[in-house]
Amino acid sequence: MKKQARHKKKQSYKAVARVLVTLLILITGLIAYYSIRGGDRTLLMVFHSEKQVADTSGAWNLILVDRDHYIPANYQVELTELSNGEKVDSRIYPELQQMFDDARAAGLALFVREGYRTTKEQQQIMDDRIKEYENQGCSKKEAKKKAEEYVAIPGTSEHQLGLSVDINADTSKCSSDAVYQWLDENAYKYGFVKRYPEDKTDITSINNEPWHYRYVGKDAARTMKQENLCLEEYLIKYK
Ligand SMILES: [Zn+2]
Repeated sequence: MKKQARHKKKQSYKAVARVLVTLLILITGLIAYYSIRGGDRTLLMVFHSEKQVADTSGAWNLILVDRDHYIPANYQVELTELSNGEKVDSRIYPELQQMFDDARAAGLALFVREGYRTTKEQQQIMDDRIKEYENQGCSKKEAKKKAEEYVAIPGTSEHQLGLSVDINADTSKCSSDAVYQWLDENAYKYGFVKRYPEDKTDITSINNEPWHYRYVGKDAARTMKQENLCLEEYLIKYK
């Protein structure tokens, strides 16, 4: 009988201790949350990785648009139409044309498969890709996750800026690899960078896309090429 009472007492101490520890954790958490919220918002963003509107107040050629940085709804772009109907931001047209002239002079056959896209077009591409994975047997959730590895979420595609182009080979005349290799070696001279390289997927969250080139201007492109930086890394280091 005595032993049983002692055991009961021990059990209730344990329960009280458990409640105290839980309370302590809760209070510490609340204090931390409110002190961070009141002070440095960036600290909070580290934990939440908040989606935010892309900063368009700096240099137009260095605007960072990715899954955490949305294009502002009022973003204006003046477009120039290419001979095949694709469009790009007029400011990148002269250097894009020069790059194509030089690539063609080097014996390559290439074309802009995709330039500027509206949000609606981006949404259509995403919907089509999700459907494709669903047809292959993925669940809706799986299909969405897979699609988002390749297709930018509407509002977060560089194509919506008009500063990016998908460049393909005319494969009846030359190989894709030949085009991708030439671009990889030369695009920076015209202010373009391979935006989603194979060794930066952990930073860009987009799989290797050897055809997707982004205009950043000649100075930034040269530095990024020389130091093997993607745009995110370049902006942290130099801006
Ligand atoms: Zn692209």
